[in-house]
Parts: sequence; structure tokens; C-alpha cells
Amino acid sequence: MYIKCKGFCFGCNAPLKPYIKSNNQEVRDLVRKYRRINPIFLYNNDTYYKFYGLKINRVCYSCFTNIKKPSLKELRNIETGKCKPLPKISLSLTKNYLLVWYNSLHKYVSNNFKNRQIIVYNDI
Ligand SMILES: [Zn+2]
Repeated sequence: MYIKCKGFCFGCNAPLKPYIKSNNQEVRDLVRKYRRINPIFLYNNDTYYKFYGLKINRVCYSCFTNIKKPSLKELRNIETGKCKPLPKISLSLTKNYLLVWYNSLHKYVSNNFKNRQIIVYNDI
């Protein structure tokens, strides 16, 4: 069992589309159970494409919607002190948060896993 992602956000360096892979059916069932016990909100980590000048970069949904270029009128107001610039905070989950969640998932799976492979030593 391992966790992987499709890439990292250009704006906030958050992992994009994280997913968990395993080669065992029982582990997959346990992961589904654990997602019901300790849910994780990953909709902000979806992949979107955004123009930066003439280049296209992969960004998360939060950066795609929240972080915008200010228009000329807004820029004028910010420069003259009429209004403050909007804070650019990304709401997508960070790498450290995902790793902490994955560690607790790994603990849950290792505690509840039943069909372990039996190692047979023929030499003894
Ligand atoms: Zn982002």
C-alpha cells in the first residue's frame, strides 16, 4: 500500500489528485472503511490548468478559483490605499497533512488486517 499524487500545484505546491494503491482486496476494503471513519476533503486538490502569461501550468482547484490577477481598477485602488489586497491563501491540503492522515490509515490497516501471509521455513 502506498500513496501517490499526479503532480504538485504551481501556485501553492500542494499535491494534486492524491490516491492510494494496493494489490490486496482486503486492504482496499479497509481503506474504504477508514475513509468513512476519518474522512478527508480532497476536492480542493483536483487538477486544473491555468494560464500564466503564455504558459499553462497545473494548479489546484483552490488556486484556480481564489487566486486571480487584479484588474486595473482594483490594482489602482490597492496602490492608492483605498482597499487592501486580498489574502492569497490556498485551501487545499498540504503534503504534511496528507502524510499524517496516511500514517494513521497505515496504523489502522495494520491493526485490522487478518489474512497475513504465513511464512513457512522448510529448512528447519
Ligand atoms: Zn494551489
